[in-house]
Amino acid sequence: MNQPIYKRILLKISGEALMGERGYGIDPSVLNRLADEIKEVHELGVQVGIVIGGGNIYRGVDAVAEGIDKVVGDQMGMLATVINALALQNVLEKKGVMTRLQTAIVMEQIAEPFIRRRAIRHLEKGRVVIFAAGTGNPYFTTDTAAALRAVEIKADVILKGTRVDGVYDSDPEKNPSAVKFEQISYLDILKLDLKVMDLTAITLCRENSLPIIVFNMNVPGNLKRIVLGENVGTRVYHENEIS
Ligand code: UDP
Repeated sequence: MNQPIYKRILLKISGEALMGERGYGIDPSVLNRLADEIKEVHELGVQVGIVIGGGNIYRGVDAVAEGIDKVVGDQMGMLATVINALALQNVLEKKGVMTRLQTAIVMEQIAEPFIRRRAIRHLEKGRVVIFAAGTGNPYFTTDTAAALRAVEIKADVILKGTRVDGVYDSDPEKNPSAVKFEQISYLDILKLDLKVMDLTAITLCRENSLPIIVFNMNVPGNLKRIVLGENVGTRVYHENEIS
């Protein structure tokens, strides 16, 4: 089992995943490990797109609490994702992985604008493409950006890296008897109101039958295991699909 089962993946990394044990910002050792893991799957010949969050630096909801308008707060949050993306790009390039950074908000001095066809071309040429600034619109999340970019670049799967092992019936960090699903349909996620991704993201994946694998990004080697076809985390599938 050393042939990847996916040709093209979209990896979603939350901002929180980058801060490790710190309360804020980026932990260089975590970033370094993530980059190693991405390099590993890239070396298997898998085309890798990445959407990165910004919650380790700024979230729109915090802004509202601080008296900043929601839209402005969301714009600040989107800029936070660009900071993370620049850091990840830099570490990957230092490890010899060719990358391109595309942003949904134009900032040409530091990154390419998001152009779908160009992104696909980069992937075909073996460059890791990092998509930053979310969807470019307020009132969305980077989970929705991940679903959108995955559909646009025709990824085979979204791999959502989190701090827990997969999808549980309740929050495993709060409830020790929470039960993990090996797999679950989009519809059941919606029905049970499970907080896997926001509803917009789940709906977009469901409408386009795009599978999601939710897995623990803090377990070294998980990303590679998934790409090589091991059952890691929870697979989210369409209810019409024979699972
Ligand atoms: N955001 C936005 N539109 C998007 C994506 C993100 O307005 O398309 C803002 C939103 O304020 C969000 C912040 O950017 O709180 C950071 O993104 P997110 O919370 O999704 O990051 P993560 O939880 O993955 O770290």
